[in-house]
Amino acid sequence: MDFRDTLGVLDKKGVSKRIYPKMVDGFLFKARNVVGFFLLAFLFSAPFVKIDGQPLLLLNVLERKFIIFGKIFFPQDTYIFALAMLVFMVFIILFTVVFGRVFCGWACPQTIFLELIFRRIEHWIEGDANQQRKLNEGEWTSEKIWKKTLKHTIFVLISFFIANTFLAYLVGIEELERLVTHSPLENLTLFVSLLIFTSLFYYVFAKFRELVCIVVCPYGRLQSVFLDNKSIVVAYDFLRGEPRGKLKKNEVDPAPKGDCIDCKLCVQVCPTGIDIRNGTQMECVNCTACIDACDDIMEKIGKPKKLIRYDSMEGITEKKPLRFTARIAAYSTVLALLLGLLSYFLLSRDMVGVTVLKTPGMLFQKPDSLTISNLYNIELINKTSEKMNLTIKVKDEIGTIKLVTNDTQMAVESQQAFKTSFFIFVPKKNIYNMNSKLEIEVYSEGKLITKTKTSFTSPVAYAKK
Ligand code: SF4
Ligand code: SF4
Repeated sequence: MDFRDTLGVLDKKGVSKRIYPKMVDGFLFKARNVVGFFLLAFLFSAPFVKIDGQPLLLLNVLERKFIIFGKIFFPQDTYIFALAMLVFMVFIILFTVVFGRVFCGWACPQTIFLELIFRRIEHWIEGDANQQRKLNEGEWTSEKIWKKTLKHTIFVLISFFIANTFLAYLVGIEELERLVTHSPLENLTLFVSLLIFTSLFYYVFAKFRELVCIVVCPYGRLQSVFLDNKSIVVAYDFLRGEPRGKLKKNEVDPAPKGDCIDCKLCVQVCPTGIDIRNGTQMECVNCTACIDACDDIMEKIGKPKKLIRYDSMEGITEKKPLRFTARIAAYSTVLALLLGLLSYFLLSRDMVGVTVLKTPGMLFQKPDSLTISNLYNIELINKTSEKMNLTIKVKDEIGTIKLVTNDTQMAVESQQAFKTSFFIFVPKKNIYNMNSKLEIEVYSEGKLITKTKTSFTSPVAYAKK
């Protein structure tokens, strides 16, 4: 049970130690490669993709400007962000409760970059796990200097490339292009950010590595709360595998031993240095390397595969095959509903944001003996990629609107806010209350695109209902 008191990535003094996982090959590794490289292709190409002249994704937190699938979002769209965050949280929780850390193994950028890119390059240059250990522990020879220089140069270049992509999502590809084609001194802040991100990515992928998943990542730290004995995890079938024992030469029938021949290959391939045979552990990132490694061994010794597999604790103890249960169906339905709700809000979002507020300190005016007027401030936000000419009206023509500029319409540039003031004139015969609610309609080229409510103040109620 001493595995509970130690971490595979720390030595006895508690200092982080280097893990040398063996490279693995197998069905799941190949499948993860396909998924991983597809996601990488998306990640690196998305900043260049435009929809109606807008980037596919832009997350400019500095200027609080967000573009998702070509749609522009402003701080005024907070309710959509709040809902998106809620859906994301519920998604993470429900998904993890049912499917464990599948995300970590298959879609997390940290795992994809580390396992599919950085470790692979390391393997090409420095050799397999044993050769890497030997190289690191050995003297500084010319071969070691050459290999280390080559590896770290490539690591820095890839980190630089990742940092550029990261910045493209933050500030947009045009800004990044400006940085690349002009002197760094002209864009010093951006250039310094690029250097900081490059150093950060290099440190994470060259040095810090699996500690990100074990120590830093909040999602990883929450696993113990999310998982239960029904969650699907990478699990060792201890009923089939135990009692483990080495396969002896010329031993025809290894019974009463279990199927695990204690070759420890599953431990040697683990990038977080754990032994999955000790049960589900917080360090497991569901990378599936141990499944591939054990399948290979089982095939060699003529035993059925999947001694280590995706399964739940309940599935293993009760020998139930993995299937689509009512619980998975229920959780998936909740997720689908939430995603549907979010999609509805995204699709039905107004193209123009409008805020109308009474001008402070101005209750009402009496422009003539038959009319009362109120003064308002209006802010219009054009969320589209086209300039818009907007007009405003009072619903049901209870009153008339006059802009203080005397213009009949307001020209609002794409992605810009426009502020002005206007009067609402209401004939006394339409005033039934001292404080009545009015609906302001916003039109673009004669088409109603959004509306908002405001109040109208009068000295007395002139008309009777
Ligand atoms: S790889 Fe399979 S057989 Fe080898 S130690 Fe691990 S569980 Fe046992
Ligand atoms: S235990 Fe298996 S799945 Fe989990 S991190 Fe280690 S190798 Fe990957």
